[in-house]
Amino acid sequence: MARTREEMLLKWLQDAYALEQEAETMLKAMAGRIEHYPELKARLETHVEETRQQAAQVRACIEQLGGSVPVARSIVADLMATLHAAGNAMMSDEVAKGVGIGYAFEHMEIACYRALAVAAREAGRADVAATCESILQQEVAMAEWLLEHQEAIVLAFLTRESTEGVTAKR
Ligand code: MG
Ligand code: FE
Repeated sequence: MARTREEMLLKWLQDAYALEQEAETMLKAMAGRIEHYPELKARLETHVEETRQQAAQVRACIEQLGGSVPVARSIVADLMATLHAAGNAMMSDEVAKGVGIGYAFEHMEIACYRALAVAAREAGRADVAATCESILQQEVAMAEWLLEHQEAIVLAFLTRESTEGVTAKR
């Protein structure tokens, strides 16, 4: 059955909402564990706050379109995100890998909001398109920060890793 542009837009907004829930769980877990990389920790914490606001903005768009938002966070999605975060925590090179994982995740979000902006415009919802474009800018800024700081973080990790008696992984 064909879906109207508005139905497609609504579905993608619901997907984005779920993605932001996962982002919040993962970012919070990573930021909370970091001990020796204060700049990264601070940037992640800022993005946790942005992520919460993004989820609220996406939720408002869904409600404006008359769609439903899950009352509680999906148990399955939450468990998956928690397991994912726990898996990351067990890596001996958590910080170095985490920067790459974060970079990949931000690009998933970038693709998601770019598609949403097109879909919103096509559905005649300039208001929703504007919201998606403003969220998109925050995701681009986060991805750019990770790209710009990757070298320094990896270098710091390598230095700590080769120093006896010092924790490197986080
Ligand atoms: Mg986001
Ligand atoms: Fe993000």
